[in-house]
Amino acid sequence: KPAWENLKSGLDSDRIPGALLLQSNEGLAVEKLVEFFSHALLCQNYSSEACGFCHSCQLTKSQSHPDLHWIRPEKEGKAITVDQIRACNRLAHESSQLNGYRLFVIEPADAMNESASNALLKTLEEPGEKCLFLLVTHNQERLLPTIRSRCQHWVVTPPSTDQAMQWIGEQGLSQVPAFALKLNMGSPLKTLESLKNGELEEYSAFERCLVET
Ligand SMILES: [Zn+2]
Repeated sequence: KPAWENLKSGLDSDRIPGALLLQSNEGLAVEKLVEFFSHALLCQNYSSEACGFCHSCQLTKSQSHPDLHWIRPEKEGKAITVDQIRACNRLAHESSQLNGYRLFVIEPADAMNESASNALLKTLEEPGEKCLFLLVTHNQERLLPTIRSRCQHWVVTPPSTDQAMQWIGEQGLSQVPAFALKLNMGSPLKTLESLKNGELEEYSAFERCLVET
């Protein structure tokens, strides 16, 4: 919520930077946040959130918006290449298709190799108008310092234990021990998963064995 409020105040005041770096731990559903934000940024009737009905919203929903570009490794675990970045650099200097923002989501941004990072740096130095590069990462320390210094930074922090426990309770699970959240690095989603797939049960059995021996 705090990260969304930050993004929203940028949208509400129409003060969108040319480059944003979104850092989060794993398991905090940052992809949902990016989805929310991208729909809101491109919506033609934006008013505190995306309208869901306009031409832009329909295109974002069907994942065919011509001004929304996702840059990901072509295969999982591989690098984002310089050719991929050059292609979006070209698009960044063309005009928008629907007369609004153009958004480039680079995810995970730390997958860019050095030449890709250098290519991006050039564009970040001379950003096009109404053009936003959104760099999403769990490991911002792996990005070039020169890239980091060009971006406005936002950090998605884990919710408090109380908030997380309340949310887990709302998903239909009660009497969840607080250490379950700690074991999952504060991620409510991962905690929920570990409860559902029996991992937590396994851990407890293991701990009992350890105590008994
Ligand atoms: Zn809309």
